[in-house]
Amino acid sequence: MHKLAQLDHKFVWHPFTQMRDWLRRKSVVIKSGKGTVLCDVRGRKYLDANSSIWTNLHGHNHPKINTAIQRQLKKISHSSALGLANKPASLLAEKLVRLANGRLKKVFFSDDGSTALEVALKLAYEFSRRTGRSNNPKFLSLEGAYHGDTVGAVSLGHINLFHKSFSGLLFKTDKAMSPYCYRCPFNRAKPERDDAREYRKCNWECVGKVEQKFSAQKKKGNPYAAFVFEPLMQGAAGMIPQPNGWLRHVTEIARAHGALLVTDEVMTGFGRTGQPFASQHENVQPDFLCLAKGLTGGYLPMAATLTTQKVFDAFLGEYHQFKTFFHGHSYTGNQLGAAASLASLEILEGGKSTQARKKLEEILREELKTLWSLPNVGDIRQVGLIAGIELVKNWRTREPFNLRERVGIKICESMAKRGVLTRPIGNVLVLMPPYCTTATQTAKMVSALRDSIREVFNRS
Ligand code: PMP
Repeated sequence: MHKLAQLDHKFVWHPFTQMRDWLRRKSVVIKSGKGTVLCDVRGRKYLDANSSIWTNLHGHNHPKINTAIQRQLKKISHSSALGLANKPASLLAEKLVRLANGRLKKVFFSDDGSTALEVALKLAYEFSRRTGRSNNPKFLSLEGAYHGDTVGAVSLGHINLFHKSFSGLLFKTDKAMSPYCYRCPFNRAKPERDDAREYRKCNWECVGKVEQKFSAQKKKGNPYAAFVFEPLMQGAAGMIPQPNGWLRHVTEIARAHGALLVTDEVMTGFGRTGQPFASQHENVQPDFLCLAKGLTGGYLPMAATLTTQKVFDAFLGEYHQFKTFFHGHSYTGNQLGAAASLASLEILEGGKSTQARKKLEEILREELKTLWSLPNVGDIRQVGLIAGIELVKNWRTREPFNLRERVGIKICESMAKRGVLTRPIGNVLVLMPPYCTTATQTAKMVSALRDSIREVFNRS
């Protein structure tokens, strides 16, 4: 084994990883990257088919982002935002407010997706108390929700496998039905072998369920303070897309009940779904917008929580009133991260990137169609440049695999042997290419997935 892999085995504990399995395998040690290609210490090349866990936008080693960071490095890497302002963070805040294009006027910087959610959670909690809405603010999120791994973010989560063991540490939140059309209990349409299923030929029972949640909570005399959700596509829940109109419907309900809207665009933000932010597809204007992952183009850990003037004003007062938002992180507003973000946003807003994303989305859609012929492919779900392929025992019955069978993991291991890297979400395989991915690279990602599915299920 390479000596760096040995060091890794000896000292590093990897996230979301069964370390016993990890220690049985030779780790891939990444040395460099360019565009969609990652290179390991042995000189092997791989396609980064999940954009380095959904972070990378324009490819690795992008000359414009590199230059922006190098320029900033020559000036300063970091000075504290506690008591000091800095140029790139100010410019970035202005740019994010412009991109959000609506009622979001203030930006609170932090470090990653989890902290972006913690900030929104604490602000929404305190805002609701200060404005007299509730002494004991309650939150509603979606079934299968995942909003990060810090304790507040985990409290908003509803994935038993990840969250249940921490239940003693958490505060209670409620969950509303999410529109998992493929497994909709109200729509038992016969399974079909293509993506032309008419999901929307339904009576929006799932929306009715959300309404029921809000009404029931209102009857208790303490209406929900905030509704927290990923717009358009729920990621870690298993890449669950929301049918057209769902987002508008449920946010209207939430608004009618006076709840604040918290959109978690940690995965869906920055062009992944076509628009700069996914909620813009349905003209939803949240009270809090949480951003991370792609903010820096996938270069550095940085996050932002955008909010309204109204929320900001609720924290204004004389010093002795102690209305200050007592929250912050050492690296808040970091200059290198902000410089990378500014460069990334400039690329994103260029006409070339928009066209390339549209084209890539179509290429991916066409390539994915070839997977329908595999009997273990139950569903193929794509929103923009996010795709989830759900594997089942039999497409006719939609029977899921037991997680213990490690089907997703085995397929990803087999894909890695074919030079394509991604991670599964249980039985759902994820393809989320960087925006610079070529047609040939996309075809290779999908063919590696196809061949790996065949190999794992022993079908030629
Ligand atoms: N929200 C969503 C929707 C996410 O997908 C993630 C991470 N996968 C997070 C929050 C947490 O982000 P981070 O890992 O940067 O803390």
